[in-house]
Amino acid sequence: MTDGARSATGTGDDPREVATHCPYCALQCGMTLRAEAGRVTVAARQFPTNRGGLCQKGWTAAELLDHPERLTTPLLRDRPGGELRPASWAEALDRVVTGIRAVQTGHGRDAVAVFGGGGLTNEKAYALGRFARVALRTRHIDYNGRFCMSSAAAAGMRAFGVDRGLPFPLSDLGRADTLLLVGANPAETMPPLVRWLTEQRERGGNLIVVDPRVTATARHADLHLQPLPGTDLAVANALLHVALTEGWVDREYVAGRTTGFDAVRRGVAGWWPARAEALSGVPVADIEATARALGTAERAIILTARGAEQHAKGVDTVTGFVNLALALGLPGRPGSGYGCLTGQGNGQGGREHGQKADQLPGYRRIDDPVAREHVAGVWGVPAEELPGPGVPAYQLLDSLGTAGGPKALLVFGSNPVVSAPRAARVEGRLRDLDLLVVADFLLSETAALADVVLPTAQWAEEDGTMTNLEGRVLRRRALREPPPGVRTDLAVLADLTHQLQGGAPSYRLVHRKGPLLTPKQEHGATPEHGAGAVDAADPRVVFAELRRASAGGVADYAGVSWERIDENDGVFWPCPDTDGPDTPRLFADRFGTPDGRARFHAVEHRPAAEEVCAAYPLHFTTGRVLAQYQSGTQTRRVAALRRVAPEAFVELHPDLAGRLGVAEGEPVRVVSRRGDMVAPARLSPGIRPDTVFAPFHWGGAARANSVTNDAVDPVSGMPEFKICAVRVEKVTEP
Ligand code: SF4
Repeated sequence: MTDGARSATGTGDDPREVATHCPYCALQCGMTLRAEAGRVTVAARQFPTNRGGLCQKGWTAAELLDHPERLTTPLLRDRPGGELRPASWAEALDRVVTGIRAVQTGHGRDAVAVFGGGGLTNEKAYALGRFARVALRTRHIDYNGRFCMSSAAAAGMRAFGVDRGLPFPLSDLGRADTLLLVGANPAETMPPLVRWLTEQRERGGNLIVVDPRVTATARHADLHLQPLPGTDLAVANALLHVALTEGWVDREYVAGRTTGFDAVRRGVAGWWPARAEALSGVPVADIEATARALGTAERAIILTARGAEQHAKGVDTVTGFVNLALALGLPGRPGSGYGCLTGQGNGQGGREHGQKADQLPGYRRIDDPVAREHVAGVWGVPAEELPGPGVPAYQLLDSLGTAGGPKALLVFGSNPVVSAPRAARVEGRLRDLDLLVVADFLLSETAALADVVLPTAQWAEEDGTMTNLEGRVLRRRALREPPPGVRTDLAVLADLTHQLQGGAPSYRLVHRKGPLLTPKQEHGATPEHGAGAVDAADPRVVFAELRRASAGGVADYAGVSWERIDENDGVFWPCPDTDGPDTPRLFADRFGTPDGRARFHAVEHRPAAEEVCAAYPLHFTTGRVLAQYQSGTQTRRVAALRRVAPEAFVELHPDLAGRLGVAEGEPVRVVSRRGDMVAPARLSPGIRPDTVFAPFHWGGAARANSVTNDAVDPVSGMPEFKICAVRVEKVTEP
């Protein structure tokens, strides 16, 4: 079987094997799913990003398809505080529609809000944005990607005029002479990517990691800079300071391809390495060695990830490293550049097609009159009827149920009770709603609070597209139909739309025996929205409309077809023409700004939103572990992953543990001004003695986000997950 094919090795026309991609992270590793002897198995397959590798999460992804806790019937709560009970789809959808109408009649259209996710397919993200703006006519839609990648997105847009995680193929990493990873731990978050790092080092390359902890990735590095959390920007400015004083700045590139360098040059003049060392703890010699490795390399790449981003100054911190890359003349040169390692499976596509508060499809701004006219034309509504911008995710969640805030929330593909900062407060806001609707395939902590739970399909049960961390649009292919009682998100949105508009359901859930796409659909022309009968629940139809809505935008998918994806291991956006090329590499000749030049922005270090004090003397930082994913709704239910990572922990330095009288495995309580968490201590000399770490995958008493700060970046709205002030107590009570 070739990649992209659907084979019929089972009985009849049943699809029994498909080439698809992992449901989890943005690496979107290629895998083959097989239905054999009543069970679904996973096999790794060769794909340019993973080259035949998968991590534990990918290998075990199919275990959830027939998991005993899977939801297969809608659930309703008849009264506040009552239990959820099974219900029919008709009753559940009627409750949703009735509830939406009551809230909007009483409080206005903006009283209903929508919350999406960075794991939704492009088609779903697009349909969710259209549903909010056209069916609900609310300005309130945002998504959990705001918590993951929004600071690098904002920094990329203001510097390059384009936000694409990697503006070059992943394979470029293997060619870089120097690779600087800032706040990125791919050895745990996306292990197959480490093959590229290994290749880079085997070629004699220099790998430098900036991270407050000795992570699995840092252990691979030639040099590890271990700054105090929240001081990366000081290190970035000091690196540029050294590059300037040593004459490593590419002045021809700066003069010919950028604007705004003088202000940056003046700004970093005061960031001599000793000053950065005093603030960050990174030795002068290491700052100088890093600057030299970058400044004298023929090919160098700088990558940032959540460690740099998840701060109240995340946009400026990323900008500091973008400034460094531009000053060295890296972006647009083969084997060189700046990039961001996107986290969630469709973190890239999910932020392009309209589920962000300020955005329309194609990465258009919702406050741009030209963009509104274009998208409204595709949607068949007057532009003046489209709502204006909403508010970023945390601001939205924190306003729920308050005076003037939304009274109803529809959640698709997200679990903010575990993943939002200051989570206890968010949980309280959700409880204050008149109506909470959650579409999910498992009873997440958020779904458990809902008035209506809608059971939806899993990744192996629906077709669609995803856009990986390289901006490569991929095909997700269905192996089988959803089980009886389960519907796709697109079907739910289509049905709600028609019921809200007073019509009948626009689709019928057909239990098909054969392939989910007809041969004509698989190989023939893409059906266009508006041409005859339209099945708004059909992802291919939705994608055709997405292509038209994105045409001419920054993220232009007009020339991307499912057939073209199949033939080419994916298609890189922008791809405006079906007959024209796609764009694996950006910025070779010009940037996406109006004048084609990249823009420097002078950025200054500032303290974290919450500094340590006598009552809260330690820094707290959060992150991920290899065997769990995001809020853990899925991976905590996979037995093999649970064996590897069964529970949360609090990582602390042995010296700190000694002062607290805590031994390995003993429970400790981490306390901040907002709340606390309890988990076993894990002692590690790889963490600074002034810092403690906890993974954020668990809820309940071990919820790390009970502790985190809800301060947000003023530009991106990204919360400060990576630093707040805490104290740690030994737990003595039973
Ligand atoms: Fe690949 Fe990420 Fe899936 Fe692991 S979780 S198999 S790294 S896509």
